[in-house]
Amino acid sequence: MTFWPSVVVATPAHSGIGASLSYRSEFSLAPGTLVRVPLGAREVLGVVWDCPTEPPEGLSEGQAKAVASVLDGLPPLNARWRQLVKFAAQYYQRSLGEVALAALPPQLRELSNEQLARRFKRRAKATATAPGAPPAPLDDTGDPSDGLAREGHTLSAEQLETLARLREAAQPVLLFGATGSGKTEVYLRATRDVLDSATPAGQAPTQVLVMVPEINLTPQLEARFRERFEPLFGTGSVVCMHSGMTPAQRLGSWLAAHTGTARIVLGTRMAVLASLPGLRLIVVDEEHDPSYKSQEGARYSARDLAVYRAKVETEALAVEAALLRASPHPSPLPEGDGTESGSAPPPRCQVVLGSATPSLESWHAADQGRYVRLAMPGRIGGGALPRLRLVDMHHQPKGAVLAPPLVAAMAERIARGEQCLVLLNRRGYAPVLACHDCGWKSDCAHCSAYRVFHKLDRTLRCHHCGFTERVPRACPGCGNLDISPVGRGTEQIEEQLGALLADVKRPDGGPARVARMDADSTRLKGSLEQQLATMHRGEVDVLVGTQMIAKGHDFRRITLVASVNADAALFASDFRAPERLFALLMQAAGRAGRDAAHSAASEMWVQTWYPQHPLFATLKRHDYPAFAAEQLTEREQAGMPPYGHQALLRADARSQQAAHAFLNGAAERSLALPWREEITLYPAVPLTIQRVANVERAQMLVEAASRAALQRFLSAWQPVLLDCRSLPEARGLIRFAVDVDPLTI
Ligand code: ADP
Ligand code: ZN
Ligand code: ZN
Repeated sequence: MTFWPSVVVATPAHSGIGASLSYRSEFSLAPGTLVRVPLGAREVLGVVWDCPTEPPEGLSEGQAKAVASVLDGLPPLNARWRQLVKFAAQYYQRSLGEVALAALPPQLRELSNEQLARRFKRRAKATATAPGAPPAPLDDTGDPSDGLAREGHTLSAEQLETLARLREAAQPVLLFGATGSGKTEVYLRATRDVLDSATPAGQAPTQVLVMVPEINLTPQLEARFRERFEPLFGTGSVVCMHSGMTPAQRLGSWLAAHTGTARIVLGTRMAVLASLPGLRLIVVDEEHDPSYKSQEGARYSARDLAVYRAKVETEALAVEAALLRASPHPSPLPEGDGTESGSAPPPRCQVVLGSATPSLESWHAADQGRYVRLAMPGRIGGGALPRLRLVDMHHQPKGAVLAPPLVAAMAERIARGEQCLVLLNRRGYAPVLACHDCGWKSDCAHCSAYRVFHKLDRTLRCHHCGFTERVPRACPGCGNLDISPVGRGTEQIEEQLGALLADVKRPDGGPARVARMDADSTRLKGSLEQQLATMHRGEVDVLVGTQMIAKGHDFRRITLVASVNADAALFASDFRAPERLFALLMQAAGRAGRDAAHSAASEMWVQTWYPQHPLFATLKRHDYPAFAAEQLTEREQAGMPPYGHQALLRADARSQQAAHAFLNGAAERSLALPWREEITLYPAVPLTIQRVANVERAQMLVEAASRAALQRFLSAWQPVLLDCRSLPEARGLIRFAVDVDPLTI
């Protein structure tokens, strides 16, 4: 008998190949089976989507190629995973194969069946000593600190209340917890609840997915999960998934998750598409963080997919449970569950979004009752949030980069043995180098942007394309020897603080120590961890850095946080800029006063030319709900997200004309499409940085009042976009992309 499996393979949306390709097979192949199939001259990895017994119309036996091989050592990807992938592909306007294959570890494409089988054996051996369940009893004879790591803290009243309400919540949960309120401990307990719950016979062991924006910034989190759960569920029960891992490590983690040996997956946005057959809980920590939105390929939001995924998993579990109840020979109830099957809570997969400054999308969903909002306003240990001190730059000496009162306040802290953080969102020494005689500026030859002056290695570096050169001795325009930096970056602040604090002594009599942490200082592997460690050990008194120093770190002795120059964000054209600034400043403030002993005197300093700006009034009160309400009112009036829905059509081309021609052509040819009257298409515009690495970039904003209308229109538009690539006026178009729910406009 012959079967006609349809197989999805990696094809980008605009390659024009249909959703799946038909092959021939002598065996029936379960949907979700991984196979290798011929494609052109190559053999590629694919996922079986369907396996009909009839050939598709118009295809005869002779025309279809045979499936080359089956990765039969691997269980098929389940229906829930396939539904997630299908949804992501449709929603974000990409091909099924592109999303499906991008969700698999790259090494899976290269390894032969034999190599895979060997991997498996090794894994099986490594985990044989630590079966998934039941959990080993806690050993209470060990040393107490070890016990704490495993058992966790005695929960605060807020944490207890939150966990109780979490167990009851039937909808996605928005955990609105102040910085330092102990959210991580809540995640750990909720994870423990899920992993302890017994699994009915024949089902995959329960699993938990914990997502974080950037794993490297929170090494403590991984340590806490390992300490807590590896003693209970075995080494290998906690795995990571992020782009910093080697291909072999990624394959290992993926296999462990897919086969159920990993009970906890900690990962960045890519982990949302991992195969997790026993998934019962998804945590999205710092859910407001823009890094959850992918900026290339399928531009998906991992947070939004997490919410969708939890719903799909829950629905599938409900169907399974109903089938189980209806079957004449119900399988035995899981051990230890003495309740009647009728009263047991229905199995489900829960999703928890956590943040001290939730995204306005999630906040709005909670306002509407689609999410359950659980608040933890108090900090563990009762520490206060820092007091806001606004420095009006009008009243500071002309040209001062750091206000004298701020420097004096820092000196006081250092003398008391406390630490300070200084935040500036610009790395390098100065954003531009300029000649005041002829007006020359350090442009990048390949981008419409300036190259940044890095004084440490005396280079001019483009932060967009990477183009780097030695700083010229004299002005390339007129030969003037006096070219000078304009504006300031982290290197310069570090240098100035070093000078300003030169006479300040630490309590041990040593000189004050200033360090810098940004993408430049942490480029080498391991250097980030090293720098964090010196900070934790108190060897650094003042840490200067970009937003990476504001995120998630649990520094204990910080009592002063300063933001040196945030004004640009107050008036940026991007309507999300205030939301981002508020989140950043709240997060940064959250680094201060984490140790209650120091918290009374902790302060957040903000240097600004606009101290009357309303954003600062709500920031002063640490009043995120008031800020969110104001912003949401403005967004509602303007029909902006979350009230309206947006997508961007982006075009990259050799010239702006070609990019514009493509966009305008696509707009003209959209007029007859269904749902068109519900859509607003804005004029095509160049991007703010319109040229990067010699590629011209332009975009067109697409808006609709309803998500459904936007979705239907985009689907209908897709074939038109493919056609428009060959418009004669659009010659020189390199690529286009649709970005649904874009974060930056
Ligand atoms: P968040 O993630 O909300 O910023 P964390 O979970 O990191 O906060 O908690 C802040 C600090 O408080 C951590 O050092 C953590 O170990 C500690 N902590 C959390 N819960 C408790 C508790 N119930 N009792 C004592 N300390 C706790
Ligand atoms: Zn010059
Ligand atoms: Zn450049």
